[in-house]
Amino acid sequence: MSATIPIPFAIGETVWHAGYGSTETFDECPECAGTKTLTLIQGNGERVSLACACCSSGYDPSRGYVKRSVSARTPHPVTLGSISLRGAEITYFEGEYPSGTCLNPQDLFRDQAECQKRCDALNPDADAQEHNRLIANMMDKRGKMAWSVHYWGRKVKDLERNLKAARARLGLCKERKESTQ
Ligand SMILES: [Zn+2]
Repeated sequence: MSATIPIPFAIGETVWHAGYGSTETFDECPECAGTKTLTLIQGNGERVSLACACCSSGYDPSRGYVKRSVSARTPHPVTLGSISLRGAEITYFEGEYPSGTCLNPQDLFRDQAECQKRCDALNPDADAQEHNRLIANMMDKRGKMAWSVHYWGRKVKDLERNLKAARARLGLCKERKESTQ
């Protein structure tokens, strides 16, 4: 029995790659509907107005829109320069050494029309992934905003309590001082 791994394309061959590509689009923020502000109703019915975190990145102010990447894979000609074998998995590279963009055989075609079909199949997948990423980001930011309101609300209460306790202690100190004079 002989174990052989078929090599689908030869080194030096120029083929079509379902090449990576994307465009950017700006959508109205799904969380604040472009208003940049949200109202959070706490468990006790208290309403808190806060800047929308879903359409802000880091410490930047809310923008009212979110950036979405739209997959635009199109056939690109590539000349295969090297091959890398990991287990039974083949990966091609354009350069002489395996570095740079990984070219998977399932994304390589001798026929441009076939490659276009692959691109047309991959683009919606990438868009669905991007959609899921945006939803995950929104849920994450939603959790952080709620946590923030809860955290700072509790912090204010703690500080108020501590201030009251500190004032009471100070009052006691003054009383003692007066009584010792
Ligand atoms: Zn927003």
